[in-house]
Amino acid sequence: MVSRVIPVDPFDLVIFGGTGDLARRKILPGLFRRFCAGQMPPEACVVGAARADMDTDGYRAFVGEAIAEFGGDIANDTENLGAFLQRMSYVSIDARGEKGWIELAGLMRESMVRAFYFSVAPGLFGDLAERLNQHGLTDADSRIVVEKPFGRDLATAKELNRDLAAYFDEGQIYRIDHYLGKETVQNLMAVRFGNMLFEPLWNSQYVDHIQITVAETVGVGGRGEYYDKSGAMRDMVQNHLMQLLCLIAMEPPSKFDPDAVRDEKLKVIRALDAVEPHHIVRGQYEAGEEGPSFREEVNDPRSRTESYIAMKIGVSNWRWAGTPFYLRTGKRLKARCSEIHVVFKELNHSIFGEQEDHRNVLSIRLQPNEGMTLGVTIKEPGPGGMRLVDVPLDMSFADALGADGADQTDAYERLIMDVIRGNQTLFMRGDEVEAAWAWTDPIINGWHTRGDVPKTYDSGSEGPVDAVQLLARDTRVWRKVSS
Ligand code: NAP
Repeated sequence: MVSRVIPVDPFDLVIFGGTGDLARRKILPGLFRRFCAGQMPPEACVVGAARADMDTDGYRAFVGEAIAEFGGDIANDTENLGAFLQRMSYVSIDARGEKGWIELAGLMRESMVRAFYFSVAPGLFGDLAERLNQHGLTDADSRIVVEKPFGRDLATAKELNRDLAAYFDEGQIYRIDHYLGKETVQNLMAVRFGNMLFEPLWNSQYVDHIQITVAETVGVGGRGEYYDKSGAMRDMVQNHLMQLLCLIAMEPPSKFDPDAVRDEKLKVIRALDAVEPHHIVRGQYEAGEEGPSFREEVNDPRSRTESYIAMKIGVSNWRWAGTPFYLRTGKRLKARCSEIHVVFKELNHSIFGEQEDHRNVLSIRLQPNEGMTLGVTIKEPGPGGMRLVDVPLDMSFADALGADGADQTDAYERLIMDVIRGNQTLFMRGDEVEAAWAWTDPIINGWHTRGDVPKTYDSGSEGPVDAVQLLARDTRVWRKVSS
């Protein structure tokens, strides 16, 4: 099957922070991939903007190097690279000063979609919004893209929302959560709402529990200073895991429309129960073959920040009351994987007599090897009588769709194209972000008030032992962390 690539409208995209780590690793290689795929129209222009003194030739060399290092299979496409680099220019600009704004205005063209990517520290979002407005660079159709973290609590998220709302309508603000740009995440909606099969069973009557795991093998590395002020709850749960939970738990929207989808996600967040302290396990990794301990990496022997968190969450609504959602995420774990498991209940009655626990599990893998598996129970082959065995009914996208099934467009490039198309479905709305912080804040405040200390866990393990007990108390077990 050949996938259709529909070019987006011609655009001017300004990347504030165009020399930063995110631009180098994700945004620029992603744009080049879309260019090679024919989705970025030849008239489109990209302007890198940062304080560093550099001319356009220097920036083109910088972009070329970024693509050589992070472009993967397109890194050697020299023919396209030359044409792509011609679409690049650079302006040295200060978000907090006057430098560069007039030059930037001179680069903007009429009748183009205008998008401004704020790939800078959140402390600069308000300044950029103000300067863009002051220099007349935006109109009602212009878009801004803002990176995470979107606040560190409800108060700061509200402040950011206010700063942006002073100059932009909500319909112009694209808050990126790259988890939502993953192919499988969108497939989750397609599977749930495009099939008769699952939706009737998608509730507490048939679903025993749901597990969401985002495991990393890396530690905090060079991000120690930032991470020690953040921790897994702010860095991962409040945004990425929360978004995944919403997509699993939400009611069917009336149509696949940005606000209809986001309204339903918001209802889920508002239905989340406050989490009891004994339903949360926090952890910090110890030193191992993989590297120093968390406390060494953040350079604070007394740090109480969590590099791991597991929690049991209840959703108090008609569909999910009684079905727990277990979330866990951590660094320096045994394997890198992001997975959702929808574990169905046991049969009410087995006609096969005493057998081991057999139940259906729908597993959705976000990375690596995006795909879905439905575990079904069948007869174990052979003459040994009616013994049951669970086997995966594999929905490998690569097998079903040929080469395109394996074509995993990076989340960033997909989301940037959505910005140009003006489609906000996969971006977080301001009220969603605030609701997520409103749920998160009391949890974090509780740790500080009680002086909670994270449990330690071995590097390369599946996390603290207490996390196993969190499920064991409910006579359940975590799925293995494996790649
Ligand atoms: P970074 O490597 O520190 O880059 C920051 C960029 O901002 C540089 O290009 C810097 O260039 C520019 N900048 C700083 N001050 C400026 C000013 N006053 N005016 C104009 N430009 C200025 O940061 P990053 O890792 O790319 O992250 C960018 C944003 O993405 C942050 O909000 C971060 O939280 C978010 N994010 C990053 C990642 C990632 O993997 N890196 C992942 C998720 C989210 P000059 O110093 O030359 O001005």
